Amino acid sequence: MTDATWISVDEARDAGRVGEQVELRGWVRTRRDSKGGFSFIELNDGSCFGNVQIIADQSLPNYEADILTLSVGSSIVASGELKASQGKGQSTELAASSLRVLGDAPADYPLQKKRHSFEKLREWAHLRPRTNSFGAVTRLRNRLAYSVHQFFQEKGFYYVNTPIITASDCEGAGQMFRVTTLPIEKIAGSGGKVDYSRDFFGKSSYLTVSGQLEAEIYATSLGRCYTFGPTFRAENSNTTRHLSEFWMIEPEAAFFDLQDNMRLAEEFIKALLTDVLQDCQEDMAFFDQRIQPGIIESLESVRDTPFKHLTYTEAVEILEACGESFEFPVSWGADLQAEHERFLTEKHFAGPVILYNYPKSIKPFYMRCNDDGKTVAAMDVLVPGVGEIVGGSQREERLDVLLERMKELGLSEEEYWWYVDLRKFGSVPHSGFGLGFERVVQWTTGMTNIRDCIPFPRTPGSAEF
Ligand code: ATP
Ligand code: MN
Repeated sequence: MTDATWISVDEARDAGRVGEQVELRGWVRTRRDSKGGFSFIELNDGSCFGNVQIIADQSLPNYEADILTLSVGSSIVASGELKASQGKGQSTELAASSLRVLGDAPADYPLQKKRHSFEKLREWAHLRPRTNSFGAVTRLRNRLAYSVHQFFQEKGFYYVNTPIITASDCEGAGQMFRVTTLPIEKIAGSGGKVDYSRDFFGKSSYLTVSGQLEAEIYATSLGRCYTFGPTFRAENSNTTRHLSEFWMIEPEAAFFDLQDNMRLAEEFIKALLTDVLQDCQEDMAFFDQRIQPGIIESLESVRDTPFKHLTYTEAVEILEACGESFEFPVSWGADLQAEHERFLTEKHFAGPVILYNYPKSIKPFYMRCNDDGKTVAAMDVLVPGVGEIVGGSQREERLDVLLERMKELGLSEEEYWWYVDLRKFGSVPHSGFGLGFERVVQWTTGMTNIRDCIPFPRTPGSAEF
């Protein structure tokens, strides 16, 4: 046939290509037939938010057979000349000289109707990426993932892969999923004790809740590293901000103290915002119009404003004095609840807040003890709309203090022998944090539920697809 070049819809929308013979491949979003003897087809191929309009004239040999019956959701290949568009909101259109149907979509295609609730779309996780909303979320997520690597690579952090299966069971980050090949049906029936030395790894093993402890090994060897991988938490929390399987980015840096750590987190978050605001403008405009009005302005303001820093103790004083009625009481020593965090970041400061120096009683064993004897060098970053997005700390590098702390908490030195070794041999101050990737996607898209920020959400009672 012709020598038309296959290009993406995104490329085809570039006015600079007018006059070229091109081929487009994608899925039909809408079809409209004009009395004048031609049809308008809106085509999308996922390469960008917008569609390209194809004009199919009745002179096409298969006009009656294929085009007048072409249904929403069908996949097609069309070629012809790219022309300047007369229609508003689009710069180009394709005047089809041929159009071929690859796969028809019969009348039971679920996405016929324009609007479905996000709850409903979760049941169709195999089709929802074909909608405007999920196409946009997916492209944003992709850009963010790329930014994560760009940011750390430019700062000399090495990308390290930490294990998904782990035997460290008391990092304190959350409840764990057990990994086993033991015949649990038999064990359940016998009522006896389980001998995990006979299990696959010769001991109890789990899906990881964090790659931090292993990342510390690499930070205290290569200086700076980061992980970016899946983590698992078996908590039965049905909230809009928790998944059972989520992706976490965990930078860890030798010779970084808490201040350096907080600076890194702020710079990182701002770099992510800068990139999506700059490179995902069409998708962001959609979120701003349809998902959360004002989101662009609010992210721009976060990008351009220094984060507020305050200690946990100062935060508790504000919360106690604010006169707000909370479901959970606030008092020094108690963990802050989501409602408290959101009050601080959404109402009191109306912007991102970094809280630091938390009571040691509510934090894990590896956080560095402060001189006051009561607090540890922990920090959380809270942002409007989501609450906690980052949790981190300076790690305890002093062997004696670490061992003392482990003893207090009843952790066995033998089990953490390798972690303890890092403090025995050339110990250095070091710090790191964890950023929940889906929480960033949730924040930057304005999506209400974190289940709509990952392609295939795993939550209590749900692991379809
Ligand atoms: P939260 O208090 O919100 O449950 P956490 O304090 O248990 O979080 P950390 O152990 O500090 O979380 O994990 C680091 C980061 O990972 C959090 O700041 C958050 O962004 C993200 N995160 C934690 N748990 C989840 C989850 N269940 N689903 C999605 N992201 C999560
Ligand atoms: Mn945390």
